[in-house]
Amino acid sequence: MEVNKDKLLHWLQELIRIPSITGNEEAIASYVSQELSKMGLHPQVKENNVFFEVGEGSRSLLLNAHLDTVDVGGEWKHDPFGAVMENGKIFGRGASDDKGNIAAMLEIASLSRNKKMNGRLIFAFTTGEEFGVKLEEKGSYVLSQFLKADKALVLEPQNDVDDKRVNIIYGCRGIENILVRIKGKGSHTGYPERGVNAISKSVEVLAKLEKVDFHKVMAMDQEIKTICMPIRIDGGADIFLVPDRCEIMIHCRIAPEDDKIVKQVEHVCREVCGDNFEMEATYSAPGYIEDPNDELVDIIRQEAQRFKFTTQNRFAGGRIDASIFKTVANIPSFCMGVGNRDQMHVLDEFITVDEFITCSEMLKNIVFTYLS
Ligand SMILES: [Zn+2]
Repeated sequence: MEVNKDKLLHWLQELIRIPSITGNEEAIASYVSQELSKMGLHPQVKENNVFFEVGEGSRSLLLNAHLDTVDVGGEWKHDPFGAVMENGKIFGRGASDDKGNIAAMLEIASLSRNKKMNGRLIFAFTTGEEFGVKLEEKGSYVLSQFLKADKALVLEPQNDVDDKRVNIIYGCRGIENILVRIKGKGSHTGYPERGVNAISKSVEVLAKLEKVDFHKVMAMDQEIKTICMPIRIDGGADIFLVPDRCEIMIHCRIAPEDDKIVKQVEHVCREVCGDNFEMEATYSAPGYIEDPNDELVDIIRQEAQRFKFTTQNRFAGGRIDASIFKTVANIPSFCMGVGNRDQMHVLDEFITVDEFITCSEMLKNIVFTYLS
């Protein structure tokens, strides 16, 4: 039983035509749930997250793709919500990230109705994966409160299409944003010794931060270390005043299981400023790491081979929702999926039709082999 190319293309184009920039997932959630209902399936919706399961048995696999996209973000040559097909590509915001995978999941859901499976296949279409959504408000977090599965496969466009390579993600860094407010003491710039320059203190803090030995873990043969960088700075007062305040936003990409980053930043601030600073952790999301010697990874590798794709285990650069299923729901999680990873968040985003169809077929085989 093969995936149906016409249905896949139809769904993908319809999905692209429904704008679903983060925070506006209601319309796409209702489209997805209507399509599933038409198949005779019984999707549930919670805060615009759509989920349901098929099959029975003790084994279980969670399949996830996100409903939201980043904003259009500039001038496109193609209508970002037009889903135009041109030269074997379909263009639109979300074409690769992540609507190709939503369409593939719809087709797998449709096929699962007539498939004898050894176990349960759980579908989760989630909100708020992209920027700016607090951890507790992300769909993956909301569903992680009650979904249970032996394993999760989080679908993101991770393929290197030109090289015919499937990337299998087994971990990612987390994020910690720390806002530091440094207090100085204002004075006449002709008598700087009477004041404390908050900007100079900030520079000292940043220089010291670069020397900290941050948390690290080994991921296969690669060292993954917490990285810390200033991403916004704002301070000073008038042009003849020693600045009495400076605010730095410190953005940290944290190695998995780093539970000391906030303490380390605080320690540096205290060394430089004494008590004259305040700190606020404004955003946190966990990282995670999984052992890639796993049955599911083996199946992905075998199926990729059948389609003449090579595979590569990778530690992700960005944060992915697999980290939430792993750390909040305690479900071992991997990430892969249809679509080109260099198309994430770019202008004139596209998906290559051939790859989309071939890799949807591959994905269907991976899922049904895992539950066979
Ligand atoms: Zn994505």
